[in-house]
Amino acid sequence: MKNVCANWGTSSRPVERKVSPLVKKQKFCTPEFKCNAKVTLSAVLNSLKLRIRNRKSPRALSFDRPLVLLQSDDWGRVGVRDREGFEELRSAGVPLGEQPYDFYTLETAEDVCALREMLQRHHDSIGRSPCMVMNFVVSNLDFAKIGDHGFQVYLQPLAHGLPGSWKRPGLFDSYHKGIADGVFYPALHGTTHFCLSAVERELGKKKDNAALLRTFWKSETPYVYWRMPWIGYEYWDPEQNEFLDASSQDRLIRESVEFFQEMFGVRPLSACAPGYRANQDTWRAWSSSGIRVFQNGSGGFLPTHLDSQGTLRIYRNVDFEPATSGSAFSLERCLQQTRQKLDRGLPAVVSIHAINFHSSLRDFRTPALKLLDRFLAVLEAEYPDLLYVHDGDLYRMATQATGEGRAGSAHLATTEQDADPSLTVGGGRT
Ligand SMILES: [Zn+2]
Repeated sequence: MKNVCANWGTSSRPVERKVSPLVKKQKFCTPEFKCNAKVTLSAVLNSLKLRIRNRKSPRALSFDRPLVLLQSDDWGRVGVRDREGFEELRSAGVPLGEQPYDFYTLETAEDVCALREMLQRHHDSIGRSPCMVMNFVVSNLDFAKIGDHGFQVYLQPLAHGLPGSWKRPGLFDSYHKGIADGVFYPALHGTTHFCLSAVERELGKKKDNAALLRTFWKSETPYVYWRMPWIGYEYWDPEQNEFLDASSQDRLIRESVEFFQEMFGVRPLSACAPGYRANQDTWRAWSSSGIRVFQNGSGGFLPTHLDSQGTLRIYRNVDFEPATSGSAFSLERCLQQTRQKLDRGLPAVVSIHAINFHSSLRDFRTPALKLLDRFLAVLEAEYPDLLYVHDGDLYRMATQATGEGRAGSAHLATTEQDADPSLTVGGGRT
């Protein structure tokens, strides 16, 4: 396969563009994925009431029907290269097996299909299935090129396939099928999950850190974050203890949007910064790239709201993470947190990372699907007027835009209410 790479950190970045045969090119520039809705969004919007905004402090958007969103990070990002990479790293002295993310690999087509089929079995009050927002990392390290060029950093856009000897037959088709079926909604996570400039600095300066990275990369594993937090997050440099400057962030975000478009045929409407590390410069760059929904992790005190620029800011408020919570996970607690939001008219924004659906090294998928299946069934039984929405739906509802999309048929009034900090929960992760 002819890989195409972005040599980050040089002034002339030889990026060859090639359209993936899996990607159907489309000309529109905002996501309008095929939906399973039986009615149109405009039917909802015609009856929607929205109060005047532009207040000094954000006020929570609330709705007269219970809304549930599922947001999931880290799709498309390779980790430990399955059993072979796992054993190679252990042989090299890395004691993998201590934390859940030591077993993070990459979803398989079977993992994605199992998720899609489970979601398709569920329906809200107007017959739609849940549509999971999947935040994609749109490039991986190009291990083959890195090995040939003295361990400098090269990237391979996701649309051009998986790097090195990684194999996932049918995976990209499974993403596209879920999108076509209206149960997946792709959004942007980042070009990479880690801070490229921090990694390049460590490669050049710190002997131990550089040696650890080379050990990982020889096994075609980019990193395991908890073992090397000095790699930071895409827009956050931990050693400098600051965000990248505005021009660097703008360049990265423009590139990630290009890679996203190449993968999915549309530009992203919604984005979530790796590690939730975003600042004003991130937001400005997102806006200039057409992103209108900014996702945030849980643990803060702000409610989901429209800001003064008309951007929808969504804050997660239910952590549904059985893979990483282990025995501390409680389905009942997740349900209680969700009821707490819904009973106040607030959207329940559920965080569930991609690791929950992995099965290559450890079967996180079977218990997570069972729990999510039960979670959705309980909500459907308890809330006869439940609506499943994704970020695009919520944006349209909040801004009263017109157009076709996933929809709700019944009366849906949107109002704003004062934020109640007690309604938020802690425990945000990447
Ligand atoms: Zn992440």
